[in-house]
Amino acid sequence: MVSTDLPVAAPSAVPNSAPYRQLHFDRGARPFLVLWELTRACDLACIHCRAESRSWRDPDELSTPEITNVLNDLAALGAPRPIVVLTGGDPFKRPDLSDIISYGTKLSLRMAVSPSGTPLATRKNLAELRLAGATAVSFSIDGASAESHDSFRRVPGSFDLTVNACREAVDLGFHLQVNTTVTSETVDQLPGILRLVGSIPAGLWSLFFIVPTGRGRLLTPLSAEQVEDVLLFLAEVSDVMPVKSTEAPQFRRILVQREAGPGVAPTTSLYSRLMEGIGDVLLAGNHGNVGGRNSTTSRSSGASVRSGPARRPLVVGDGYGVVFISHTGEVLPSGFLPMVVGNVRDSSIVNIYRESELLNMLRSPYLYGGRCGVCEYRDICGGSRAQAFAAYGDPLAEDPNCSFQPVTDPPAIAS
Ligand code: SF4
Repeated sequence: MVSTDLPVAAPSAVPNSAPYRQLHFDRGARPFLVLWELTRACDLACIHCRAESRSWRDPDELSTPEITNVLNDLAALGAPRPIVVLTGGDPFKRPDLSDIISYGTKLSLRMAVSPSGTPLATRKNLAELRLAGATAVSFSIDGASAESHDSFRRVPGSFDLTVNACREAVDLGFHLQVNTTVTSETVDQLPGILRLVGSIPAGLWSLFFIVPTGRGRLLTPLSAEQVEDVLLFLAEVSDVMPVKSTEAPQFRRILVQREAGPGVAPTTSLYSRLMEGIGDVLLAGNHGNVGGRNSTTSRSSGASVRSGPARRPLVVGDGYGVVFISHTGEVLPSGFLPMVVGNVRDSSIVNIYRESELLNMLRSPYLYGGRCGVCEYRDICGGSRAQAFAAYGDPLAEDPNCSFQPVTDPPAIAS
């Protein structure tokens, strides 16, 4: 399966000068992003698959009428309506995919799709989605070459199919997001993948920091210090192309610290390794166009003057602004936080989103434990609730992937 992220344009964000964006509506009243696993069926068998997908469809999948009922509920929220991202598994495994997109589009929902890089991702099939009203697609690229990507995805030929589908998607007028899974196995591929992403060109590059859930348990996550260094690298890249992080919200803290001046520095050799691989890309950004967007950085004689990231990340997270619907209708804070808070077969998605006790707790940073609970950045970061749950079995615990030491010490745990 592919990561469940898609570009979030900024129609619902408050303009400000900070290097992040805030929603202008109550994120407890309506989601900004609905990630919808239409099916778990997929012809890939990726090492990191959250859904532990298989090639056949579950007979208990939501039916087309059940899906359109949920779309009706979401549309009834009125503007600004949520973005609906149809993912999987591989959404192309559902024969009603175009009908679902068309129905949502007619309700003025913004429909996006996250297909897998398989023989189903053809120009013809993508064009059908475009015709039905989908405006954005995302594909996953986890290696800079066929060899590295295909061994991660465990399907020979997947790299060529994915890159080709990306180019077709851009040609068809889709906004393209490329997702890359960051683990010890893939991290050294990042500079090469950045070049590839820029050459396609994608509109957004999203780094997904693996959560040890599903088949992701088999991969080797980075240390907190290495995650910090990858995010510092990503902050540099953000000057020349739109980027985002998934399940690593401390990227927003790093952007704020970086804009304020010195105070955040790499601590491992990984940062230098990654930066060595992209020096020329950053210089090229001076002239403007990595990933199809104009640079916001000006550099001369090695000095740089920043005017902020090319795309400011939005302050949303698992359960606050984002909600996940499984192929059988279960509602969860995210696909990586396996705590079911309801089912759309029993209740309206809007009611579940508003009334779930767990979701309301996730929207309350003052309830967080450990460093996240006392952190001066908790309201714009808050840590990944999925990473906290995977590490401690507690979605309100501190994010183990963050190495930041807040000014205030967390309360001591009573023995
Ligand atoms: S301690 Fe928690 S809230 Fe603070 S920056 Fe790290 S992850 Fe974010």
